[in-house]
Amino acid sequence: MAGILIFSEKTKLALELASAARELSAVNPGEIYALCINDQQEAAELSDRGLAAYLLNNPGLSTADTALTAAALLALANQLGVDTILLSSDRRGKELAGRIAEAWEAGCLTDVKGFSVQDGQLAFVRNALGGATVATQIIKTERKLIAFTPRAFAPVEGGGGSVLPFEFDIPAPSVKVLDTRSKAGDMVDIQGAERLVIVGQGVENQSDLSLVEQIARALGAEIACSKPVASDKKWLSEERIVGLSGKICKPEAAIILGVSGQVQFTVGIREAQVIFSINNDENAYMNKISDYILVADLKDALPELVKALA
Ligand SMILES: Cc1cc2nc3c(=O)[nH]c(=O)nc-3n(C[C@H](O)[C@H](O)[C@H](O)COP(=O)(O)OP(=O)(O)OC[C@H]3O[C@@H](n4cnc5c(N)ncnc54)[C@H](O)[C@@H]3O)c2cc1C
Repeated sequence: MAGILIFSEKTKLALELASAARELSAVNPGEIYALCINDQQEAAELSDRGLAAYLLNNPGLSTADTALTAAALLALANQLGVDTILLSSDRRGKELAGRIAEAWEAGCLTDVKGFSVQDGQLAFVRNALGGATVATQIIKTERKLIAFTPRAFAPVEGGGGSVLPFEFDIPAPSVKVLDTRSKAGDMVDIQGAERLVIVGQGVENQSDLSLVEQIARALGAEIACSKPVASDKKWLSEERIVGLSGKICKPEAAIILGVSGQVQFTVGIREAQVIFSINNDENAYMNKISDYILVADLKDALPELVKALA
């Protein structure tokens, strides 16, 4: 391996990518580099953990402009002569992946959860067919672009890196970024939560959410939900949806309240370390992939849980 370049504008995800890069370079040795755009703090953190972090300081480049960000990544990748770029498989990472792979003539995989070595080749593991199955795939091209799902790797440890300047003449932007604002509304990070209490349609009344909140508070958990609870009922924000069209989560524990367990949901939670399911249907598919099951009506179970945790 000639080398690996990593990029995410979210420091936490960049640290995870650095871990992935270390594991990959243990199989195919090569240097590891990071690109940080207008983020001195991220560059310092990555260099503190042992990486060569290239800092591109140019207020004319916003990471919201994925065309320019892709151009910067390509320029640095070519300058360093790396053959692998790692991105995070979040919305922006996936958009960058497509843009870079096409321009760099690289084989590209997104939603990658891990890798193994098969017959001396790196084989990447990712969800396929909408999460109904898991595929193991090998990139045949010399250049490789891999987008790893958040939390697929622990943040990197180590020390002794450096921050280096990266000069890049910005080409004329195709997008004019007028303003960048934090997202309004719910800023919850269900992917970062160690524990989740997940509300499904089996929670029949919106007023029962106050019981769910009490349970979550007692457990130090975030509240998440199945898609219809947010998209149809509008009880919770879409930031809290678990699953294919929401977030892929890997908490230590997930308490799942009245979710049937269709594949579009389970793909987002099946890698939780421990799953508790409460459902009044003992044959619900959710129960089949759970570690602990309580077959009960949530109208009875929720107040009992609140009492037990008080
Ligand atoms: C392209 C596509 C993408 C999708 N993406 C997602 C996604 O990202 N996330 C997602 O969640 N869904 C997604 N869906 C929808 C998904 O297919 C399911 O419709 C959805 O997950 C069902 O939500 P649910 O389990 O909460 O509701 P239901 O399927 O209605 O299940 C409710 C469950 O609660 C139980 N129950 C009912 N009453 C009680 C009670 N009183 N006490 C205890 N248990 C009770 C029932 O037995 C049942 O198991 C997607 C669908 C499509 C087509």
